[in-house]
Amino acid sequence: MLRIGFAGLTTAIVAGVLAIPAWAQQAAPPSFATTKVTDNVYIFRYGNHQAMFVVTPDGVIATDPISLRRPAKPYIDAIQAVTKAPIKYVIYSHSHFDHTAGGRPFKDLGATFVAQRNAKTRITELKPPDVVVPDQVVDEKRVITLGGTTLELNYVGKNHSDSTLVMRLPKEKIIFTVDWIPIEGVQFREMADTYVPDIETSLKRVIAMDWETLIPGHPGPGGKQTGTKDNARDQLAYLQDLSAAVKKEVDAGKTYDDAMKDISLPKYDSWPNYKAFLPMNIERYYDFWNRGI
Ligand SMILES: [Zn+2]
Repeated sequence: MLRIGFAGLTTAIVAGVLAIPAWAQQAAPPSFATTKVTDNVYIFRYGNHQAMFVVTPDGVIATDPISLRRPAKPYIDAIQAVTKAPIKYVIYSHSHFDHTAGGRPFKDLGATFVAQRNAKTRITELKPPDVVVPDQVVDEKRVITLGGTTLELNYVGKNHSDSTLVMRLPKEKIIFTVDWIPIEGVQFREMADTYVPDIETSLKRVIAMDWETLIPGHPGPGGKQTGTKDNARDQLAYLQDLSAAVKKEVDAGKTYDDAMKDISLPKYDSWPNYKAFLPMNIERYYDFWNRGI
């Protein structure tokens, strides 16, 4: 069953329910679903994670396996429900396991794994058991052309990680980039692995690119699956406002606790995670202004 939140896009063509008891089936949204964005671009949503896949006559470019501690079969089935063309690539958005885990079945089908160089370094160091080590790396930029579709892999610097790619489809004017440009949201918890203030520079670079539709790694409020450049502009404004507010507290000699209590940013208080995560976001910027870390 699809909720209104998903209806802003075109048809959802596959929906499934995983291990949800019968009594809960009416209330819960499906565990996974495929949404068509354009003729060749799809979103596969699995729980609260989503990945983009691009279909061409010569093969499929998949992105994040998003199968940490759960089977990857629903994602592969979703692709094969659209096309029988082979899955040629799996491209990681960044190194974090909740997005990269579960790629083995894609590897067994012959896919080539691609990631930013720093993602390969991190994955090789930590050796998470269910993350496939990338076969190929990108430093600043790579262009993949397959079956008439062009996909750019851009590195715009450090932001939510030091390995984030901005995948851009120039013809379709779509980008897929994960975990740092939410649709109406503050940053996740204490902004672990996030580089401050570099994330603001990265946002300016993404805003300067030519695109219209954002596919993020998690749906937004109401299950909204795509955003626009306004979401990137709003996120930059939020971080700049947050940074300025925290700097003021630090300059006034206030403590962490004072800053977390004093600061409110009413422009953003309608964002669903504002109340829960704003204090932790404040703490991250307090470290930056107070200690330069
Ligand atoms: Zn992440």
